[in-house]
Amino acid sequence: MTVLFGTHPEYLEHDTGLFHPESASRLEVIMSVLDRFEDGIVRFRPSPASTDAITRVHRAAHVAEIRQLCLMGGGPIDADTQVGYQSYDIALLAAGAGLDAISRLEQGEADAAFVAVRPPGHHATADTSMGFCLFNNIAVAAQRLIEKGERVLILDIDAHHGNGTQDIFYENASVLYVSTHQHPLYPGTGKIFELGAGDATGLTVNIPLPPRSTGGTALSALEAIAASTIVTFAPTWLLISAGFDGHQADPLTDLGFTADDYYRITAWALQYVPKGRTIAFLEGGYDLEALAESTIAALEALLGLSRRTDPFGNHVETNLVTTLAQMRRSALRAQGIDLPPA
Ligand SMILES: [Zn+2]
Repeated sequence: MTVLFGTHPEYLEHDTGLFHPESASRLEVIMSVLDRFEDGIVRFRPSPASTDAITRVHRAAHVAEIRQLCLMGGGPIDADTQVGYQSYDIALLAAGAGLDAISRLEQGEADAAFVAVRPPGHHATADTSMGFCLFNNIAVAAQRLIEKGERVLILDIDAHHGNGTQDIFYENASVLYVSTHQHPLYPGTGKIFELGAGDATGLTVNIPLPPRSTGGTALSALEAIAASTIVTFAPTWLLISAGFDGHQADPLTDLGFTADDYYRITAWALQYVPKGRTIAFLEGGYDLEALAESTIAALEALLGLSRRTDPFGNHVETNLVTTLAQMRRSALRAQGIDLPPA
């Protein structure tokens, strides 16, 4: 199997300020371990998304404001999110990576793609840049796909809830948004009773996990809570918000995932779409060593390689999974949706 790997040297120039966790070293460390793969990885250099592609999901006035702020030399957008002079152009390049990956996969260039981008995207809503994110890279790609008539499963495994992605597609029945995340944690959204709305009620699947939850629990919850909805939805594409800040070593969160878990979860998700229809987007991940190890693990899964995973690292909080499944079931029932018996 081959995997397209999209990244760009200009991503390193997005300046978040001194001591910011979302730094250029994140991509440098990923690049430094990539040579571990002898073959199967096909690198490409993304081109920028057009402003039109960005404004398909973001309000035009907001996009213009971010551009203006950057042209004036940059500055803070909120307490966490900062831009420099080049950040607008770099954000277009980040959003362009997914669009390029779509074209390349459609042409049969590889079996899957991983785009190692900065800035990340999943917190960005239609009119707000926040949480280190300027434009929502995965949403821009999903929008391109649904305009072609595709049905898109977005699996967000970042430790933070992808409020922006959820919000953009909350009423869109062509997108199934599934997220595992720590709760409580920034940005505070992603509760189990956030289900989507209108035609898309039930097409937002939130799996909030308490601190110290393992990847085994996350995967078991995905099986119990999301799997049947995914099968019914029948996605034609899988886009993964691949944030690795749920790793137990990550300084910003308290989840207990390991690199093995990112392998298992990625491999699990691949079963739901045809070959050549998966793109993983880098989101968070702030412990550099854990980030590199987790990226390797996700790439191994995308490449279809076997991995010797630690069987003892797979502890599952069965009671928690049962409780979450019951909570979702009753939240759906309150909206008039009855799930078939488990
Ligand atoms: Zn995150």
